Amino acid sequence: MKTSFEFFPPRTDKGKQTLAQVRQELSAINPEYFSVTFGAGGSTQDATLETVLDIQANDGVSAAPHLSCIGSEKAKIIELLDQYKAADINRLVTLRGDIPSGVRDIGDFRYANELVEFIKSEYNNHFHIEVAAYPEMHPQAKNIQTDLEHFANKIKAGADAAITQYFYNADAYFRFRDDAQKLGIDVPITPGIMPITNHTQLVRFSNMCGAEIPKWILERLKLYENDLDSLTAFGTEVVSNLCQTLKDQGVDSFHFYSMNRTEPSLSIAKNLL
Ligand SMILES: Cc1cc2nc3c(=O)[nH]c(=O)nc-3n(C[C@H](O)[C@H](O)[C@H](O)COP(=O)(O)OP(=O)(O)OC[C@H]3O[C@@H](n4cnc5c(N)ncnc54)[C@H](O)[C@@H]3O)c2cc1C
Repeated sequence: MKTSFEFFPPRTDKGKQTLAQVRQELSAINPEYFSVTFGAGGSTQDATLETVLDIQANDGVSAAPHLSCIGSEKAKIIELLDQYKAADINRLVTLRGDIPSGVRDIGDFRYANELVEFIKSEYNNHFHIEVAAYPEMHPQAKNIQTDLEHFANKIKAGADAAITQYFYNADAYFRFRDDAQKLGIDVPITPGIMPITNHTQLVRFSNMCGAEIPKWILERLKLYENDLDSLTAFGTEVVSNLCQTLKDQGVDSFHFYSMNRTEPSLSIAKNLL
C-alpha cells in the first residue's frame, strides 16, 4: 500500500515547527512522498521551495513540489525546475492553478496539459509528473465528458499518474476510473483523501472545488458543529470506511490532504497498511 501526504507551506515560525513535527510523525509509516502546495500568482511560491528543500534534505522521504502555471512565464518555471533538479527532486504535481483576482496576465500556459508538455520537452523523463483529476468534475468544466477529455490530454502530454480532488462518493471515483480506462488511460489514478475535522471549513472548500458532501454526512457535521470530539470521531469513521471501500476495489495508493496535521490522516492510513 502506498501513501503520500500533502502539506501547505507554513508562513510563520510556529507553523514551521508544527509541520516539522508532523513530517516526523508521518515519516514513521514510510510514505512514498510528501507534496507541498504552490500558490498561483506568487503568494506562497518561495515558501514552497523552502519547504520542499527542507523535506528533501532532512526527512528521508521524497519531496514533490506542486507547480501551477497560470500567470507564470516560462523563464520563471525553468528557474524553479532547475532548482528542483539540482536538489535531486524528481517528482512534481503539475497544475494549472487558479488565477488570483486582480491578475490579468494569464502568462505562457493556459492549461495544465501545456505545462506537462513543456516539462517533458525540457527535462525529458527527469520528473515523474502527477496531474489533477476530478471524479465529480472540475467546477469550471463545460461538462463531465469534455472535462474527462481534458484530463486525457494531460496524460497524452506525458503525465505519469494522477491524484484526484477529494470526494466522499466512492462511486464517483470508480466511474471516473472506468471512463478513463475506456479512453485508453492506464496510468495510476490515486484518490485524494480529505479527512473531516471541521464543518465550516470543509463546506467552504467543497463549494470552491466542486466536491460534494453527501447530505447524510453534512447533516451530522452540522449536528456536531460544537462538539469537536464527536465530529472528528464521525469524520474519521466515514473517511476510513471510504478508504476501505476503495481498497476493496483494488486501490493501492492514497494521497492525504493532511492540512499540516498528523491526525486523523495517520490513523486512517495505518488502518490501510
Ligand atoms: C491533487 C491536487 C493538487 C492541487 N494543488 C494545488 C496547488 O498546489 N496550488 C493551486 O493553486 N491549486 C492546486 N490545486 C487546484 C487546481 O489548481 C485547480 O483545481 C485549478 O482550477 C485547475 O487545475 P488543473 O491542473 O486541474 O487544470 P486543467 O487540467 O488545466 O483544467 C482546468 C479547467 O480547464 C478545462 N480545460 C482544460 N483544457 C482545456 C482546453 N484546451 N480548452 C478548454 N478548457 C480546458 C478543464 O476541463 C478544467 O475545467 C490542486 C488540485 C488537485 C486535485
